Amino acid sequence: MKNQSEFLEVLPIPWLEDNELSMNAKMSLLRFPCPRCNKSYTTKSAVTAHYKYDCGKPPRFECPYCGKLSKKKFNVQDHIRHKHRAKPVVCNTLF
Ligand SMILES: [Zn+2]
Ligand SMILES: [Zn+2]
Repeated sequence: MKNQSEFLEVLPIPWLEDNELSMNAKMSLLRFPCPRCNKSYTTKSAVTAHYKYDCGKPPRFECPYCGKLSKKKFNVQDHIRHKHRAKPVVCNTLF
């Protein structure tokens, strides 16, 4: 998880800071919509990760053994654990 800190970076995105709702809002409310595609997330870090790595982006992680592509490094690692059990769990980052 060496990229963890990148997910915590705050981007210059006009977040909806809904202070009136914050205390009484139900936890299930999706309060952090993506400014680009309006997909909503429950936490700011989740939508930040989506906006930086997922939204409108091509897959950037690749299985080095079969070329399977994914937007999530975790998915490639999980794929290798299941499909290439004898191999080390590594992941190509395309860009
Ligand atoms: Zn989006
Ligand atoms: Zn593979």
